[in-house]
Amino acid sequence: MTDHEAMAALYKRLEKVVVPEAWEGMAADITAIRALKKEKNAVVLAHNYMTPEVYFGVADVTGDSLALAREAAAMQVDVIVCAGVHFMAETAKLMNPSRIVLAPDLQAGCSLADCITPQDVRALRTKYPDLPIITYVNTSAAVKAECDICCTSGNAKKIVESLGVPEVVMVPDEYLAQNVARQTSVTIIPWHGHCEVHEQYAPQEIAALRRAHQGITIIAHPECPPDVVAQADFSGSTVNMSDWVAAHHPRHVMLLTERSMSDNAAVDHPAIDFVRPRLSCPYMKLITLASIRRALETMTYSIEIEEAIAAPARRAVERMVAVK
Ligand code: SF4
Repeated sequence: MTDHEAMAALYKRLEKVVVPEAWEGMAADITAIRALKKEKNAVVLAHNYMTPEVYFGVADVTGDSLALAREAAAMQVDVIVCAGVHFMAETAKLMNPSRIVLAPDLQAGCSLADCITPQDVRALRTKYPDLPIITYVNTSAAVKAECDICCTSGNAKKIVESLGVPEVVMVPDEYLAQNVARQTSVTIIPWHGHCEVHEQYAPQEIAALRRAHQGITIIAHPECPPDVVAQADFSGSTVNMSDWVAAHHPRHVMLLTERSMSDNAAVDHPAIDFVRPRLSCPYMKLITLASIRRALETMTYSIEIEEAIAAPARRAVERMVAVK
C-alpha cells in the first residue's frame, strides 16, 4: 500500500470526526511521523484524550497513563514520545529509565498534578504520621516520591483496601477520594485538588441529558463530583469506560469525561450514538501532530528525573503494580 493509499484508508475511518479541510496537512504530518518513528526506532504512546488524528494516525500504544508506560516497557525501542500531559511523560520515564522519553510540549500540565507539592505531602506526613499516603497517578514524580503507593482511577479502591488499615490519606483529587470512599469501609482523608475539566460537570446536566435523549446511558469518570457520579449509570476510568461500552453496546451513550475520548470511541464503535460532552482539556489539546513531529525531528523535550526522586517515585508505582 502506498502512503497515499494508506492515508486515504485512514481518512475513510476518521471522516466523521475530522473535517476534510484539515486532512491534507494532517496526512502530511502523519506520513512524516511514521517515517521518523522508523528512522529513530521510536514509538508514540497516546492517551485516550488525544484527538483522533493522533490516536489513530500515529499511536503505537493507546490507553491510560499507566497502561501506556507499562506497555512501552515491554517494547524494544530507543525513543518513546508521550502524547499526553507532563506527568504521563514522567511516569513513562519512571518505567523506562534507560529510554529517551520525549514530551512534545512542556506547557501540557494538569490541574491535578499542579495542585500539590512535595512540601504539601511532607506536611500531611507530619499531620498524619501513622497513615499511609496514596497518590493518584496524576502527580509529579517529586510528589510520588513522597508517597507510599500510587493508584489509578481504575484500581483506587483495590489499592486503598490492599493496605489493610482503617484510614488512609489520598492525594490530590478530592472527588476521586470521595467517590472511592463511598465504595469502601476504609476512611479516606482527601486533598483538595480537582480536575479543572471533570469538576465542571453538574447533576442538573445529567437530568437535562436524560430529558433530551430518551434512554441514554451516562458514564461518569470518577474525577467528576460525587453528586454527578451518583446519578450516572456507570462510573469508571477511561479504560473501564471503553471496556463497558465494548461489552454492553448501548444505543446512545454519553461519556462524562474529556471530549476526544468520545470521538475515538465513536470511530471504534460506529453503530453506537455517542452524544458528545462539551468539555476539552486545554493541556491535552496542546499535543498535536505538529508538536509530535517537532519532538521527533529535534529530539526534544527529553524528560530527565534525578535518581534521588526517581527511585522512591518508581517504588510507589511498583508497589501499586504488585497489588493483585
Ligand atoms: S483532563 Fe483533568 S486530570 Fe486529565 S490532564 Fe486535563 S486537567 Fe489533568
